[in-house]
Amino acid sequence: MRTAIYPGTFDPITNGHLDIINRAINLFDEIIITIAVNPVKKPLFSLNERKNLIKNALRNHSHKGQVKIEGFDGLLIHFALEKKATAIIRGLRAVSDFEYEFQMALMNRRLAEDISTVFMMPHEKYTYLNSTIVKEVARLGGKISNFVPPAVEKALLKKFAK
Ligand code: ADP
Repeated sequence: MRTAIYPGTFDPITNGHLDIINRAINLFDEIIITIAVNPVKKPLFSLNERKNLIKNALRNHSHKGQVKIEGFDGLLIHFALEKKATAIIRGLRAVSDFEYEFQMALMNRRLAEDISTVFMMPHEKYTYLNSTIVKEVARLGGKISNFVPPAVEKALLKKFAK
């Protein structure tokens, strides 16, 4: 059983995250989407809301049985070891992601030699997409239906409704 964790804030999940999940499903038997509780980042959506939005986005997925969603608060590598994961999935959008990701991957490898970080590139159309920019567009009344699943669009419209 090859398990990978896919950590992130997912505040909220976007089509870019879903693209990475779809690719990872083809490589591993089980993917645990690991939502960082991250109160410092002051997420717009609560942990429960983020979890439900991911669940909803995957509800018709043919491989949804392979995907689990969990929250976590602490050192990621401890979570990975506890879950007996062999890999940490990360998305690489642009060179700007590289420096930070490289540091994290090497540090995590020092902490647990047998867990590898696997970088995946999304479809080109998602390379400029991140949750922060989607929230900003939504807050200012822009169209976001091409960037997020319908339930996320609805939830964002509700958050920013005046
Ligand atoms: P972000 O605010 O950048 O979306 P997350 O912490 O939710 O941040 O991201 C979790 C992981 O998903 C990271 O590895 C990030 O690089 C990746 N990711 C986020 N958006 C995309 C995207 N559009 N394409 C590919 N990977 C992405």
